[in-house]
Amino acid sequence: MDFIHDDFLLHTETSRRLYHNCAAGEPILDYHTHLSPDDLAGDRRFQNLFEIWLEGDHYKWRAMRANGIAERYCTGDASPYEKYLAWCRTVPSTLRNPLYHWTHLELRRYFEIGELLSEENANYVWDAANEKLQFSNLTAQGILRKFAVRALCTSDDPCDDLRQHKHLRDHNTEFRVFPTFRPDNALQVHLPSQFNEWVSRLEQAANRSIMTLSDFLDALKSRHDYFHAFGARLSDHGLEHCPSSPCSESEAGQIFANARAGKAASGEEQEHFASFMMLFFGRLDAEKGWTKQLHVGALRSVNSRALRELGPNTGFDTIGDTPQVASLCAYLDLLDREDSLPKMILYNLNPADNCAFAAAVGNFQDGSIAGKIQLGSAWWFLDQKEGIERQLNALSNTGLLARFIGMVTDSRSFMSFPRHEYFRRVLCNLLGRDVENGELPSDEKLLGAMVRNICFENARQYLGLELSPNGDNKKEPMTRA
Ligand SMILES: [Zn+2]
Repeated sequence: MDFIHDDFLLHTETSRRLYHNCAAGEPILDYHTHLSPDDLAGDRRFQNLFEIWLEGDHYKWRAMRANGIAERYCTGDASPYEKYLAWCRTVPSTLRNPLYHWTHLELRRYFEIGELLSEENANYVWDAANEKLQFSNLTAQGILRKFAVRALCTSDDPCDDLRQHKHLRDHNTEFRVFPTFRPDNALQVHLPSQFNEWVSRLEQAANRSIMTLSDFLDALKSRHDYFHAFGARLSDHGLEHCPSSPCSESEAGQIFANARAGKAASGEEQEHFASFMMLFFGRLDAEKGWTKQLHVGALRSVNSRALRELGPNTGFDTIGDTPQVASLCAYLDLLDREDSLPKMILYNLNPADNCAFAAAVGNFQDGSIAGKIQLGSAWWFLDQKEGIERQLNALSNTGLLARFIGMVTDSRSFMSFPRHEYFRRVLCNLLGRDVENGELPSDEKLLGAMVRNICFENARQYLGLELSPNGDNKKEPMTRA
């Protein structure tokens, strides 16, 4: 039997029934990714396994470095094949790391390769996969069709002209690609040269000059409107912690003016300015019925040598332990008080925050929409079997699992769609175990409906994205090996 077989991760009969009958056939709504709009619009055909699988993958780089592989084979000037070979050499050492499961699930689902990857079969796998990449339907868009992706959201700067999204909207009916408004650059008043460069781009994008804070806010609002016209219904913020300090408009205006004049905001000023802006962004989302995502708790680029030599996002970010809950609740409370609290998804990076975030979510449910404030799916360092189970348990213990809007890949790679399958197997395994323990009723109708909803329907209803009416592409059931 292959390592990745039909019943992988499904340990009870009920789990297997739930997964195969209720989860496997549901389409995918991947509402948070970092996929390239260029690749999507151009329907990129990947030249080889390196391009689709290793390029830019800091998870793999971290494992390779930990395995004693030189940087040359991670981010350096080694050839694509040499880098791939270095990865194959590393795979047998990734046992119990999620990479081991992901690697073999991905090889199985994309290329029907069931062998365990190592240096010995590296050459065979390279040739077999590359042939499929060149001659089959495994292009960027073909992959979306293959995995029954009804919709996905990219992550986009407010200055982006969304040209590729327009192209995608005009040329595709069976799946939809929506932009996500990610204005992290609007908070960088402590880095004035970067900030001013970005404000210049914003001036161009919004077609207006930005002299004052009020001009700045108007320009951002016009970009938010622009994104809305392209079907965007989500925003996203990456924050070390959620800022919620009091800051008047005149104080924010002064900090803005200083940054525009090249004077860096102090740590305290930046915190105040960010707090002011986050309230502004919250109101924008609430006015239009959008969903705001907060990715909270990453400590970025902690290795200064690596930052200097390799740049950001190369695998040197980590789980921060900043206290989160008080400022997060204060932020939600400020918006709630003025009746401007949008739907929100809170993702924590520190697993110690699971229960605290799950509890925090419950304070701001207001009966206007089911699951208005969501505990986000297991993210980044927590995106593995154990992290997914802990997120599901924290949510179940303090809130309503049945209202969960489910999994996202949060990925830059077109090879990541099996993460949805992985999540679904873990979910069904948990539920099946509870049934066989007598802790949940053995009622497939009741449980099956919940599973289906978590896989797709909850997200569809909650997010309000405009999906294509004819996109009823339920996945073909996986054939039994
Ligand atoms: Zn993300």
